[in-house]
Amino acid sequence: MLKRRLYTPGPTEVPERVLKALSMQTIYHRSEEFKATLTYLRQALSRLFKTDGEVIILTSSGTGAMEAAVAGLFDEGDTAVVVEGGKFGQRWGQICQAFKVKSATLKIKWGSSPDVEQLEELVKKTPEAKGILVQICETSTGTYYDIKKIGEIAKKYDKLLIADGITAFGVYDIPVDEWGIDVAITGSQKALMTPPGLSVLSLSERALRSLVSRGYYFNLQRELKAQKKGQTAYTPAVNLFMALSEALKMMEEEGFENVFKRHERLASAMRAGVKAMGLSLFSENPANSVTAVKAPEGINGQDVVKTAKELFGVTIAGGQEHLKGKIFRLSHMGYVDILDVISQLVVVGQSLAKLGFEADVSAAVDAAFKAYGG
Ligand SMILES: *Cc1c(COP(=O)(O)O)cnc(C)c1O
Repeated sequence: MLKRRLYTPGPTEVPERVLKALSMQTIYHRSEEFKATLTYLRQALSRLFKTDGEVIILTSSGTGAMEAAVAGLFDEGDTAVVVEGGKFGQRWGQICQAFKVKSATLKIKWGSSPDVEQLEELVKKTPEAKGILVQICETSTGTYYDIKKIGEIAKKYDKLLIADGITAFGVYDIPVDEWGIDVAITGSQKALMTPPGLSVLSLSERALRSLVSRGYYFNLQRELKAQKKGQTAYTPAVNLFMALSEALKMMEEEGFENVFKRHERLASAMRAGVKAMGLSLFSENPANSVTAVKAPEGINGQDVVKTAKELFGVTIAGGQEHLKGKIFRLSHMGYVDILDVISQLVVVGQSLAKLGFEADVSAAVDAAFKAYGG
């Protein structure tokens, strides 16, 4: 028998308390009980985002919120500046295309984060752009972007800033209002410790003023009107709302600041362990949610993923697109503690050994505990 362990950068493992909330009898979405849950969720998420703006929760995966943001803020023929440094940056471009929004794209090397001067240059050169579409963590490369600096550019040139923080919220302290993020986006299945199916977005004053009413299901105006009254426009995934509410309660019990600190320590432990094993990080600016590791010379990253699954029942993620086989990704966001980091290091080391690469597993474990601190 092998216990199954899920260490992909979404979905992530779900705590028992949240699973229990998920399994309760479904309730009516026009009831007082649901209204109380939705109200709590919108308030707790505003606290997590540190925003006085409006929060909307959608029944969709994270991409649904990305689509709702593009459709809700850009008319046909409008222009957006897009940062493309990985698979999710590409997704912004594809959504723009689907909604006939023109994009001016800053293409950067996968694994790097945008050079702020280059971005400023492009924004300056694109005066017609209504906003900037960017990730906070580009999950496909395990890279953190300096969203605070990007916020300064958006402010300077009076552009809306729409930030996909799907693997950043619940990991980092991202004060949305202070840093000038007009639309902040996250999803239930990453750091929020809940199964896939819900996405979240916040809207600043400026975003609210800029709303165009496009789309039907993903119509932010209609949805906001309902959510202000403690309802959703259509039947939501009621049980997932109950589950997300339990997850946020757990995070508030731990304290958001402690949650952020835990993620920072876990990420340091993972990075230290990976390096001590003789491996190197793929990203130039590694994120605290997921660590992308270069597959060693002569070893296919997909084989590491496969071996980890076969030998240990552990699911880690490979690379996407042209990074397939070149990297593998280890997740440490959400319901994760130091032993989750240690077990991934051990599993990776043992899998690599099986594939012919001598990894120093005990050095990795020591380094990880040391970096994690007491
Ligand atoms: C997971 C993720 C998404 C959303 O993907 P879905 O599969 O639609 O939930 C978007 N952006 C980033 C950065 C992500 O990590």
